[in-house]
This record gives sequence, C-alpha cells and structure tokens, in this order.
Amino acid sequence: MLSLGKKKHTKSHMKKVLITGAAGFLGSHLCDRFIKEGYYVIAMDNLITGDLKNIEHLFSLEQFEFQHHDVTKFIHVPGKLDYILHFASPASPIDYLKIPIKTLKVGALGTHNLLGLAKEKKARILIASTSEIYGDPLVHPQNEDYYGNVNTIGPRGVYDEAKRFQESITMAYHRIHGLETRIVRIFNTYGSRMRLNDGRVVPAFIGQALRGEDLTVFGDGSQTRSFCYVDDQVEGIYRLLLSDYAEPINIGNPHETTIKEFAEEIIKLTGTDQKIIYKPLPQDDPMQRQPDITRAKEILGWEPKVDRAEGLKIVYEYFKSLSPEELQKKEHRNFSNR
Ligand code: NAD
Ligand code: UDP
Repeated sequence: MLSLGKKKHTKSHMKKVLITGAAGFLGSHLCDRFIKEGYYVIAMDNLITGDLKNIEHLFSLEQFEFQHHDVTKFIHVPGKLDYILHFASPASPIDYLKIPIKTLKVGALGTHNLLGLAKEKKARILIASTSEIYGDPLVHPQNEDYYGNVNTIGPRGVYDEAKRFQESITMAYHRIHGLETRIVRIFNTYGSRMRLNDGRVVPAFIGQALRGEDLTVFGDGSQTRSFCYVDDQVEGIYRLLLSDYAEPINIGNPHETTIKEFAEEIIKLTGTDQKIIYKPLPQDDPMQRQPDITRAKEILGWEPKVDRAEGLKIVYEYFKSLSPEELQKKEHRNFSNR
C-alpha cells in the first residue's frame, strides 16, 4: 500500500471517513464534499478506472490522505474510523465488460473486506449500489420494493450480480452483527471528471460533438434513461449516510428521456452540425429506467435541484475546457484481467 503526501495528523475531534473509489468520478466529488464538511478523509483507490488528477487538488491538505490500495486485498487502516463509503467498482458498461472478474471481486471480496473493517472499527458504512440491480425492469418507474429482472449469465450480469451480492452481504452484516449500514441505489449520474472515453452516454455524446464526430445512438434510441447531476447525487448520499435508515434508497433524477431525444438535445446544446448514426444495441441494455424517489423525499427530505438543461450546460463547459490532446485521446487503459 502506497501513501501519498506528507504525514498527516488527525485532530481528535474530527470525524474520520474512508472513501473507496476516491480517484473516480463520484468518489472524488464525495472527497470534496466531506473535506468541505470538516471531515478527515482517507481516500483509497487502485486507479484501475480512476485518475489521481481528480483528487490532486486535495493532496496538500492536512485533513486528506491517499492510499493506493486494491480493496479486494486485506485493508488496514490505523486508528479510529467513523464512516466508510464504498464506491470502488468499475461503473461504465465498457469498463466492466473489459474487466468482468475484477468487477465481481470488488463487489464481493472488496465489500466483504470493508464490512469487516467497519465491524472492527464500529464505523457506519454506506455502499454504492445501482439501478442496475433492477436489470431490464418490468416495473416502471422503479421503486425500492421491485426485485428486478437480471440476466445472471449475460455480459452485464457481472456488474448487476456483484451489486446484488453487495446489497445482500451488507444487509446480513446489519442483521447478524448489528452493523450500521446504508445502501444507495444510484441512477445514471453525470458531471465533471467522468472519463471522456469510458463509453457512458453523457461524455460519449459530448465528446463526439466536440471532436466533430457523428453521435452514436445504440439501437433505435427508444430506450430511456433519467440523468442526475453530480451535486444532487452527492447531496442525497450525504443525507443518507447521516440518516438512520438501513434499507436501500434510490437516488436519481426522475426526468426521463429517450436516448434519441437525448442525442438531439446534445446536438442542440453544442451546436454541432454532426448527425446521429445508429449502432447495434448492446445485449441486455435496459429498455427503460426512471427512479421512483418517493422514499428519498420522505426519509431524507431530498429531491434533485438541478434540471438537465442546467446540468448539461455545466458539464459541456467543463469538457470544452479540456486540452485538445485530452479531447482526442482514445481509451488508453490496458486492463489486465488477472
Ligand atoms: P469510476 O470508474 O469513475 O470510479 C470507480 C473508482 O473505483 C475508480 O477510481 C477505480 O480506480 C476504483 N476501483 C475499482 N476497483 C477497485 C479496487 N479493487 N480497489 C480500489 N479501487 C478500485 O465510477 P463512478 O461512476 O465514480 O462509480 C463509483 C461507484 O458508484 C461505483 O460503485 C458504481 O457502481 C456506483 N454507481 C455509479 C453510477 C454513475 O452513474 N456514475 C451509477 C450507479 C452506481
Ligand atoms: N448509448 C448510446 N450511445 C453511446 C453510449 C451509450 O446510445 O455512445 C446508450 C446505451 O445503449 C444505453 C444508454 O445510452 O441505452 C445509457 O448508456 P450508459 O453506458 O451511459 O449507461 P447504462 O445506463 O446503460 O449503464
């Protein structure tokens, strides 16, 4: 395990939080939020899909440290720990299709290690689950009582089942060991620090528009998604962690769109003169997705504040500000599957 930065000192009154997947998209935004709230943050990541540049602005802070570590291996954190947020996992379909076994391991072995650590430290743990546990849903919109429709042996099964196992083992630790656990079911979330080439649709379409390429809609584009801006997502997660609610909660923006309409929205936003081209729909791509957020409203008093037009404008400005080299860069990661 490699630690970066100068030796840090926790002030005894400070709450200490471990964030796994901290160099990724959501993890890095969570680091920012917890630092802002006055926590001591231990950021842990093996950098398989993340990037240190997402958190390097925090390295000089006294209340921040980074541990380069794979959470599927035994995790040692000296001293007290108040909270754990487990966000380590490949999250884009391109990533988890390239590294299926690592995806299963981080959801299963990684989660087991983190639950063990939480038990040892008497810490509260929040785990990042996903709308993918609903699979290709037959109930619409999806509420937390829906059990889902997942193809266990299909290509997406490695992610979906890892996350379903993660929820099961988390509830088992809650029931058997009395561990304080929280489960957030995250629906498609977008914002700065997403990798332009990770294949997820928001950076994919904006990147294509900025590079002057046609926008690739998979299938006929009639499948739906509902996109949540990152600041809203982080607020929901923060409130859930501090709540006393142990059952899963959906956090997402219910404003639904078809992918074809979404491509048209991006063409309008960016002013590109490129057109839409159609590619085959990936296997088991869910046909509809929209969170029912009644529970989040009732239990957390949470609902999204940033509408899609506003959020996309912010993200477009962010991607526009990247260097031409970064914009043109094709996926450079050479994943090992061992
Ligand atoms: P991301 O790929 O940007 O971040 C994941 C981070 O986890 C990366 O920094 C990666 O290097 C790290 N990681 C992966 N395996 C690891 C391991 N074994 N040990 C240590 N670190 C490891 O993805 P993201 O969008 O930020 O997703 C974060 C979490 O949120 C994931 O658990 C994902 O399933 C969940 N989630 C995200 C979304 C979304 O829309 N962004 C939706 C549903 C669920
Ligand atoms: N998609 C698309 N073109 C792309 C990338 C994605 O049409 O270049 C579609 C994809 O098939 C899915 C939706 O956009 O229906 C959202 O894909 P994403 O990978 O962002 O997340 P998912 O919700 O499928 O996990």
